Amino acid sequence: MSKAIKKNTIQLKFDSARVYEPAIESKSAAKIKPVYDLFINGKFEKPLSKKYFNTINPASEEILSSVAMAGKADVNKAVLAARNAYERTWKKMPAAERAKYIYRIARMIQEKAREFAIIETLDGGKPIRESRDFDVPTAANHFFYYAGWADKLEYAFPNRKAMPLGVAGQIIPWNFPLLMAAWKIAPALATGNTVVLKPAETTPLTALKLAEIIQEADLPPGVVNIITGAGDTGANIVNHADINKIAFTGSTAVGKIIQRAIAGTNKKATLELGGKAANIIFDDAPLDQAVEGIINGIFFNQGHVCCAGSRLYVQESVYEQVIQKLKDRMETLIVGNPMDKNTDVGAINSREQLATIQRYIKLGNQEGAEMYQSACALPKKGFFCKPTIFTNVAQSNRIAQEEIFGPVLAIQSFRTDDEVIEKANNTAFGLSAGIWTDKGSKIFNLTSKMRAGVVWANTYNKFDPTSPFGGYKESGYGREGGLHGLFPYVKLV
Ligand code: NAP
Ligand code: MG
Repeated sequence: MSKAIKKNTIQLKFDSARVYEPAIESKSAAKIKPVYDLFINGKFEKPLSKKYFNTINPASEEILSSVAMAGKADVNKAVLAARNAYERTWKKMPAAERAKYIYRIARMIQEKAREFAIIETLDGGKPIRESRDFDVPTAANHFFYYAGWADKLEYAFPNRKAMPLGVAGQIIPWNFPLLMAAWKIAPALATGNTVVLKPAETTPLTALKLAEIIQEADLPPGVVNIITGAGDTGANIVNHADINKIAFTGSTAVGKIIQRAIAGTNKKATLELGGKAANIIFDDAPLDQAVEGIINGIFFNQGHVCCAGSRLYVQESVYEQVIQKLKDRMETLIVGNPMDKNTDVGAINSREQLATIQRYIKLGNQEGAEMYQSACALPKKGFFCKPTIFTNVAQSNRIAQEEIFGPVLAIQSFRTDDEVIEKANNTAFGLSAGIWTDKGSKIFNLTSKMRAGVVWANTYNKFDPTSPFGGYKESGYGREGGLHGLFPYVKLV
């Protein structure tokens, strides 16, 4: 075995016969341009701001590309293009024709699936397995699904006429860059709206790749405009007078700023915000399956998931057993190069996010919780964090209340159903939850009492374009996905 391979080889502690040799996806299978301009009115245009910023690979800290920084004048230009496209073309086009464009985008994402997956992983740090098997196919599926609705709105809203709203301003986060763009763009186009979308500063590249596809698909100019930038760019979209709808996915803090900014205007909004999901394991659950679900819920994708199962409640009689199984499984997780097809836990998205996670880990220790981390070695370059669990956590601890958005799990025990329902509901958030039990009656009892938008039973983090997603309380309002996902983009007459 060569020295290089030996160095990257992961020897599993519990099964010494299993050794995975690295299976590195090839960077060269994807084309990343050194510079990207703004995608406005069907063309890539230099920013009026004349400013650019770099996006890096968080696993290596290498610069991947230089990306335009849209200023206020650029936002104005993009909104004007979207307005003109709406008035002159898109709202007048027969719905079945609109659907063809949306189908075309879906098919082109499938055709370029490998390239999308590579770029997503390079730009954001998530394991290639995740980008390849989840993000990219699910993004394509969203376009397929909403293409199907475009000419069937009369069945979605019987006896009503569904009219588009106009120009939608869409702002998305860095954890699912392509998928969030699909969640936003597909229903907007299907219902006859036009779009100005801003991806997150650290992960703009798959949205820009999508812009190339949109150009190639011959979508009428201005129907989708993709402009890159920072928080100010997002604020300029939110505050623009000619925007009819804001669709935002991101933090609760920015969600509140947006809510204040649009108060008193006619802008409609959907806000998909943070979460602090509880996974609950009852003593009658299939424990190995449950532990796998918990691991998947918090460690895969580095915990960069709004619905990450970042709290765990285990029934007292199986508590010790579950903790041991969790620790054993944590030792078999492969942490490191996201481009390796074996990797389970990739890079943290940015230096800032790593610092935030590390602050919470320190806080958990200061709060008196007991920490356990995987023994794995972390790569020297890039932003990485060991899978971490805390036991002996109190309900009031900040690590049990606040969104950490990293691979950190806060664990508590419980005795009765009522106790765990109260504990699970006792945060400011309400995005998702998970229940692990053999009894259907228990599942029905809990799901009716949990204040969470999604409750998974004996599984976790499962998504489908046909099912709605969204939160309660500080996790936001409005639903995306499914039939419900059409509502926020129409007015019914
Ligand atoms: P964030 O800081 O709120 O940023 C989200 C987006 O808003 C980014 O494009 C950001 O631009 C932009 N932005 C920042 N300040 C703004 C402002 N004042 N006005 C308008 N836009 C502004 O969130 P994040 O850190 O990127 O993402 C993580 C958060 O998203 C987590 O809280 C997570 O739970 C949440 N999330 C929720 C869902 C859901 O469906 N509920 C899904 C995924 C993620 P920059 O990137 O340039 O700062
Ligand atoms: Mg990046």
